[in-house]
Amino acid sequence: MPLMNTQYEAIMRTYASRQAKNRRELEERLTKIQNQIPLLSSLDASLVSLQAEQVRASINGHPERQNQLKNELAQLRRKRQSLLEAGGYTLKDLEPSYTCPDCQDTGYIGTEKCHCFLQAEIELIYHQSHLKEILAQENFHTFSYSWYEGEDLEIMKHHVMDARLFIEAFDREFQNLLLLGAVGTGKTFLSNCIAKELMDTGHSVVYLTAFQLFQLLSKAVFGNDYGDTSPQQAYPYILDCDLLIIDDLGTELPNSFTVSQFFLCINERILRRKATLISSNLDMEALQNIYSERTLSRIISSYTIRKLPGTDIRIRKKLQTGT
Ligand SMILES: [Zn+2]
Repeated sequence: MPLMNTQYEAIMRTYASRQAKNRRELEERLTKIQNQIPLLSSLDASLVSLQAEQVRASINGHPERQNQLKNELAQLRRKRQSLLEAGGYTLKDLEPSYTCPDCQDTGYIGTEKCHCFLQAEIELIYHQSHLKEILAQENFHTFSYSWYEGEDLEIMKHHVMDARLFIEAFDREFQNLLLLGAVGTGKTFLSNCIAKELMDTGHSVVYLTAFQLFQLLSKAVFGNDYGDTSPQQAYPYILDCDLLIIDDLGTELPNSFTVSQFFLCINERILRRKATLISSNLDMEALQNIYSERTLSRIISSYTIRKLPGTDIRIRKKLQTGT
C-alpha cells in the first residue's frame, strides 16, 4: 500500500521536529562554547577575512601571497582547535549532530528516500513502533550466558558467534537463518540481537510473528482491506526488506491457502536474495507436516538451521527470582 498522505506527513513531521531539535541544541552548544572561550569569536572573524583575502589573491594571481595566507590559515585553525580542546570540546561540537547522518535528518539522500525513511514507513505500516523499545532491552549488550551451563553453554556460544558472523557478512553474502528450539530458549532474543545490529547499520527490517504474517497474507489476496491491490502493493517490504523476521512459526493457524502464500513469500525472497530469519518451536518433521515438502526443501537448501539448547529460560528465571 503506498503510504497514505497522513502517514507521509506524520513521518515528515518527525524529521522537521528532529531538525528543529538539532538546530536548537547546536545553538545552545555554540552559545555555551562562545561564553566559555571568548577568544573564539575573534579567531573565527580572522579566519573569515583571511579566507576572503585568499580568494582575492587567487583571482588577482598572487601565488606568493596565496601561500602565505594558506600558512596563516592553517596556523589559525590549529590555534582554534587547541583552544577548543583545552575547553573540553572538539571541532565536531561546532557542527550540528544528526540522528541519521546519512540524510542529515531530512529523510532523503538526493531524490531517494533514506534507509531511515524506509524503516519509519515499515514501523508505521506494520505498527512496529514498539520494536525499538524491545530492541533496547534485548540486544547483544544485554545478552547473558548465565542461563546456560555445560554443553548448552558451549552450543549457545557457537550460535551467538554465528549470529555475529551473519551480521558481519550481511552485505556481502546472501544468508537465511532458521532458529529452532523449545519455548523460552532464547530464539526471539537472538533474533532481536540480529535485528538491532542491522537496523542500527541502516538496514530495513520487518519483524512479524507468524500469526501476523499469515493474517496479512490472507488479507492481501482476499482484498478485504485493500480492494484490488496485489499483496505486494498492499504490504510493501515483506518481499524486499533487507531482513524479514518471522517469529514463532507454527503458532498460527495455517490453511492450505496461507501455506501456499507462505511458500511464495519465502521463495520470492530467495529469488530476490533477501535475507529471512525464521524462528520456530517445532522440529523439522512437524514443520514439514504443516508447510508442505516443497516449502521445507526450499528452507533446507537455502537456510542455515540452528537448534537452540536448553529448557525454558523464562521458567528458570522465575524459579530463581521467585517472581
Ligand atoms: Zn536517514
